Amino acid sequence: MIPTPSLRSGPLRNLVTGGAGFVGSHLVDRLMQAGEEVLCLDNYFTGRKANIAQWIGHPRFELIRHDVTEPIQLEVDRIWHLACPASPVHYQFNPIKTAKTSFLGTYNMLGLARRVRARLLLASTSEIYGDPEVHPQPESYRGCVNTIGIRSCYDEGKRVAETLCFDYRRMHGTEVRVARIFNTYGPRMLPDDGRVVSNFIVQALQGQPLTLYGDGQQTRSFCYVDDLVEGLIRLMNGAHTGPINLGNPGEFTIRELAELVRTRINPGLELVLQPLPQDDPRQRQPIIELAQRELGWEPTIPLEQGLEPTIADFRRQLGL
Ligand code: NAD
Ligand code: UDP
Repeated sequence: MIPTPSLRSGPLRNLVTGGAGFVGSHLVDRLMQAGEEVLCLDNYFTGRKANIAQWIGHPRFELIRHDVTEPIQLEVDRIWHLACPASPVHYQFNPIKTAKTSFLGTYNMLGLARRVRARLLLASTSEIYGDPEVHPQPESYRGCVNTIGIRSCYDEGKRVAETLCFDYRRMHGTEVRVARIFNTYGPRMLPDDGRVVSNFIVQALQGQPLTLYGDGQQTRSFCYVDDLVEGLIRLMNGAHTGPINLGNPGEFTIRELAELVRTRINPGLELVLQPLPQDDPRQRQPIIELAQRELGWEPTIPLEQGLEPTIADFRRQLGL
């Protein structure tokens, strides 16, 4: 592990932006369990205090209500920059705000990283590949993104966030790590999150038809959240700057996912077709050779297995 420069002694102090969200709260759990200090920063747009309630009052944990589009001064060793809505429904709710969150949020966090000489990890996304013409996707693929479509606020926001990271590295020597995260699922997703795994599970648990957008032949590759968090930690601790794909190479059509969910919950449910949203990518599958080689990382939990705790968590959230 490469030590992060710090004038303080004691446990590493981590800033987790978006720490009350789905992925962020699982990362907070891991850092707290490792005996580190955590400053969890969130504006609660899609995050919930309930996700980190287990740590409130702990001497190594602090909660900060803040919006990353505004600057902030803190003394930290590491910045895990996850703050940004991830579900299309949420990031399209106020697309201008989403673009600001990606650009200004990353700019502010890089400014902080530069000032206090912290290492910053950016949660980038497979969406920077857009609707890919190369399949599966290696990190060297530069993507096929519509600059003016309804997904652009998020896709282009993350692309410029990556650019900022590498310009800070070149200009100021800021230590950066960039993870390109592929579709991730697991406990603590919101029932109204709007992404496909949560939609299908909630629909099935409520006895409603499962909504397939388009013909359901588009593909995604679903990574269980514990696997992703392990990859993020290895990336932050390692020497490779990235960008590096973190995802599960197991590729499924959306129709196959619907079948998996309904078989587990209620095989009698209908599948209903709804219009495919604009610019919806047709296919998505990571090549993870770089992560295997540089981080010794690969997912360990197949979709069939990861669906079980995810379904159990939604049952609990819905009081079923
Ligand atoms: P999420 O919506 O559950 O979490 C995002 C968190 O950021 C929430 O707690 C939200 O309140 C907070 N936030 C949003 N805007 C903010 C702002 N302006 N200031 C402060 N906090 C703000 O989403 P997630 O699935 O946990 O995603 C976390 C990160 O990982 C995001 O950056 C996302 O782009 C990236 N990512 C996630 C996936 C995935 O499948 N989950 C895939 C690719 C990339
Ligand atoms: N999708 C679907 N039904 C839903 C929600 C999503 O068929 O109720 C589809 C969506 O059109 C996309 C895929 O599932 O092709 C994944 O969508 P999600 O929003 O989870 O992630 P993203 O498109 O950002 O990868």
